Amino acid sequence: MRIVLVGPPGAGKGTQAVRLAEKLSIPHISTGDLFRANISGQTELGKLAKSYMDAGELVPDEVTIAMAKDRMEQPDAEGGFLLDGFPRNVSQAEALDELLTGESITLDAVLDLEVSEDEVVKRIAGRRICRNDSSHVFHVTYSKPKREGVCDVCGGELYQRDDDHEDTVRKRLEVYHSQTEPIIDYYKAQGLVVTIPALGPVDEITRRALEALKREDATQ
Ligand code: ADP
Ligand code: AMP
Repeated sequence: MRIVLVGPPGAGKGTQAVRLAEKLSIPHISTGDLFRANISGQTELGKLAKSYMDAGELVPDEVTIAMAKDRMEQPDAEGGFLLDGFPRNVSQAEALDELLTGESITLDAVLDLEVSEDEVVKRIAGRRICRNDSSHVFHVTYSKPKREGVCDVCGGELYQRDDDHEDTVRKRLEVYHSQTEPIIDYYKAQGLVVTIPALGPVDEITRRALEALKREDATQ
């Protein structure tokens, strides 16, 4: 399957993506995680991306699309993928369509995780991620690691993302509403959007998403 996850920052995209990708045996492709890996590796792309990320802005399309395309063309993504954080504006969505059309493939569904702004603010304020791998995500109250400050998955150090501080979060939410939300209408026009209420226990939301995907599959 080829799936896109959308939703505001803090909606739980990364949390759900890890679980859905495992259940569906497809790779989880997060452009945010790819940028953070480049920042840790001190690459040129990482240096460029960091200045935009710290300001809560989108990294320019040209580099983002090239990075996403390169990742989607890896052999493990041949049979499908779950995109998390990409596309994030209409021109990225158009670039993705062009790429898929060139391969004669289509998206199966766009899962829109719906959560209130109050809830995303609480989720982001308590989010802690792992230094070794930013897809290892915890929360200081909702999803506590077994040992404080230590990643359950790999033993890495947990820290708060620079862009999860209050000022940047406000900017990121603004960017979400002005630039990312329009892709929901773009995909609605293609009949691909499934809205998933994303408040409640993590496992319950995964169950809702899998149910919705089953229904989508049955209608195709
Ligand atoms: P996104 O990738 O959309 O920015 P994350 O998956 O990183 O969001 O989740 C944001 C924060 O909210 C994390 O700290 C995560 O542990 C927590 N979280 C995710 N899903 C839920 C949920 N259903 N209920 C409570 N907290 C959640
Ligand atoms: P995320 O981990 O998805 O919350 O993304 C963190 C930050 O990485 C965003 O605030 C952007 O600065 C950058 N980023 C991630 N994905 C994209 C994208 N598709 N387009 C532009 N910037 C992105």
